[in-house]
Amino acid sequence: MNDAPKMFDLGLENGVLVGPTGRAYGHLYVSGGRIAAIAAQPLPAAETVDARDLLVMPGMVDAHVHFMDPGDPSREDFPTASAAAARAGVTTVIEHTHARPVRTAAELEAKRTHLNDRSVIDFGLAAHAWPDRLDAVDGVVGAGAAFIKAFTCTTHGVPGLRAADLHALLTRLADLPVPCLVHAEDESLTEEAERALRAAGRDDPGIVPRWRSRAAEEIAIAVVGQLARRLPARVVIAHVSGAGALAEVARAREAGAPLLAETCPQYLTLLEAEVLEHAAFRKFTPPARAGGRADLDRMWHAVAVGDIDYIATDHAPATPAQKRAGSIWDVHFGLPGIDTTLSVLLDGAQAGRLTYERVVELYSQRPAQVYGLYPRKGSLEVGAEADLVLVDPKQEWRVRDEDIISRAGWSPLAGRTLVGRAVRTYVRGRLVADGDEVKAPPGTGRFVAGAGA
Ligand SMILES: [Zn+2]
Repeated sequence: MNDAPKMFDLGLENGVLVGPTGRAYGHLYVSGGRIAAIAAQPLPAAETVDARDLLVMPGMVDAHVHFMDPGDPSREDFPTASAAAARAGVTTVIEHTHARPVRTAAELEAKRTHLNDRSVIDFGLAAHAWPDRLDAVDGVVGAGAAFIKAFTCTTHGVPGLRAADLHALLTRLADLPVPCLVHAEDESLTEEAERALRAAGRDDPGIVPRWRSRAAEEIAIAVVGQLARRLPARVVIAHVSGAGALAEVARAREAGAPLLAETCPQYLTLLEAEVLEHAAFRKFTPPARAGGRADLDRMWHAVAVGDIDYIATDHAPATPAQKRAGSIWDVHFGLPGIDTTLSVLLDGAQAGRLTYERVVELYSQRPAQVYGLYPRKGSLEVGAEADLVLVDPKQEWRVRDEDIISRAGWSPLAGRTLVGRAVRTYVRGRLVADGDEVKAPPGTGRFVAGAGA
């Protein structure tokens, strides 16, 4: 008899389903780890969850995180950071760690094996471009790297690529289906600024924005834009920091370079002057550029209207002890953020800066598309993997250092109240976080290969 109604594994009922182009009240059903049906009327399911007053979104895809595992587990590790991600509504990350770069297919395989039982959520891996090993790029892309990370300046121990090296890299990538994510700061300008500041005896926190200047970022973007105009590789400018960098991206686009642009929550929430008070706890690069509210409003506007393609965290934590262990020159760059990024965007939506649909587009659909994971990830369509987050758009919460799950144990947003928070997260239909409780062990998350595999 075939007329028995199909029984789904899981139903999320009475919620508002939010996709990148619209929202609708309805019921979403999961079977075999995939989205199996979306219906206006309830259907039979083995387990149902009442999502009344909640938003149902595809799980967030954070394409730029550093979980330091392997690399520096004293700063972060995959079991901890992926648990923080699950609690925060992130169901896939694409990870790369500078302290243990992945440059070859063998290094990617080794890292993938190491992480086999270490992630709560699904994960992709990126590879590093190394100036003298550009011939390894084809192999590492074939092994499943989701993108190639390139630096224009020697940073975090990763050697910078000169224009000629970048030209060679983008020539190779033109035939490969993965993009290049470029950290854009001009080496000669950061080097010369460092020399001058050190010669003047400076070691106060005020060195950070002078050392990592607007000019260094904007000139590097201009050079990358010139290369991207000549070569058909796909190029993403990482962590676009402010109005000047955005204008440089726009100029390159007008000149015919199809640049994509990423930004991060720190450029939407933090001011340049904060480094003077908080020192190493605001040392990240490129640094915050905003002088005040109006500059932050401009970045939010760019995010809302599409000048920015997607949001990623650039989660790069260090503990308070590590941030205090040395001069401002020597301590690690980077901020924690995986615990708070979705809420920063939801808070922006609540405040009317952008729509909830745009939040889904910026932090789920677009990164999945750019890095070859769509429509398996980043979609609420039937057939997509059932990576889902239930969001309470009205939940007010105060960010406190003691609630941060990341090994960092602190947040640059501590003390702020955000409106909107993930309340339940599912990876391929499995509940991985329920409120503050992480419900699934490391090993639940699987490796997701990039488009070249
Ligand atoms: Zn980064």
